[in-house]
Amino acid sequence: SDRLPKPEKTRILTISNQKGGVGKTTTAVNLAAALARQGARVLVIDLDPQGNASTALGVEHHAEMPSVYDVIVSDVPMEDVVQKSPEFGALYCVPATIHLAGAEIELVSLVAREQRLHRALDLYLKGLDDPFDYVFIDCPPSLGLLTINAFVAAREVLIPIQCEYYALEGLSQLLKNIQLIEKHLNPELTVSTILLTMYDGRTNLANQVAQDVRDHFPKQVLETLIPRSVRVSEAPSYGQSVISYDLNSAGSLSYLEAAAEIARRGAPKTGEQQ
Ligand code: ADP
Ligand code: MG
Repeated sequence: SDRLPKPEKTRILTISNQKGGVGKTTTAVNLAAALARQGARVLVIDLDPQGNASTALGVEHHAEMPSVYDVIVSDVPMEDVVQKSPEFGALYCVPATIHLAGAEIELVSLVAREQRLHRALDLYLKGLDDPFDYVFIDCPPSLGLLTINAFVAAREVLIPIQCEYYALEGLSQLLKNIQLIEKHLNPELTVSTILLTMYDGRTNLANQVAQDVRDHFPKQVLETLIPRSVRVSEAPSYGQSVISYDLNSAGSLSYLEAAAEIARRGAPKTGEQQ
C-alpha cells in the first residue's frame, strides 16, 4: 500500500535555485527519505560546502572524511565515499565537507571541469548490482561550477520555490542558465518539477505567489504544497528527515505526497521540453 511505481531506470534530479533559504536542502533530504520510506532506493549527493544535507541525513562529514570533494577534484571513486544514512530503508548519501568550498576555484583549471560529477556518478551507477531508483543532487545557492556539474550529471531539474514576494525574481536567470547547459553540455536536461515550499495558506500573498507560479509553469508545478512547519525546521538538528522525526506531521505528510506525485508522474519523456 505504501509502495510507489519504480522508475525503469535511475532518475537523476538536481535540486537547484541560486537563492539561498528557499528549501533546496530540506526538499532534497525529505523527498529522498519519503521515497525511501515508500520502498525506493535513493542516493543524495550533497554538493553544498555547507554540508546541510549530510547533517540532516545523519551522515558524518567532518573535514577529514573522504567526500564529494575528493570525487570531483581528485577522481576518488564515488563508492569509496558513499555512506548509508541511518534513516529507514535504502537511503545513501555522498557527503560534503568544508573542503568543497575550494572546489569552485580548483575546478577552473581541471580537465573536463563541467563533467566531473557526471563521469563519477555514471561510473558508480554502472557498477552497482542493485541500482538506485532516484538520485537527488543538493546544489549550493549559486550558479557556479558546482551547480553546472550538477546540471550536467542530471536529467531533471527540480526547482523549489518559496511562496514569498521575491519568488519569481531570479527565476528567469536560472532558466536561462539551464537552457545554456541544455544547448552546450547536456541536451537531455529538463525542468521536470517545481515544488512550492514554506507555504502559509493564511496569507493572501502566499496564495497569489502560488497561483502566479502555477500560471507560468502549469506542467511542472506539483499539486502538493509544502506548508511552513516548525517540525520541518527542527528535524535536521536531530540528524533526521521530518519523515523519521515526526511521520504524521503536516510537513512529513506533504513531502510523502510530493514524493508520490513525482513517482506517479514518472520520468520526462525523451525530447520532452518545458
Ligand atoms: P536552501 O537549501 O535552499 O538554502 P533550506 O532547505 O536549508 O534552504 O531551508 C532554509 C531554512 O528554512 C532552514 O532553516 C530550514 O529548516 C527552513 N525550512 C525549509 N523548509 C521549511 C518548511 N517547510 N517549514 C519551516 N521551515 C522550513
Ligand atoms: Mg541548502
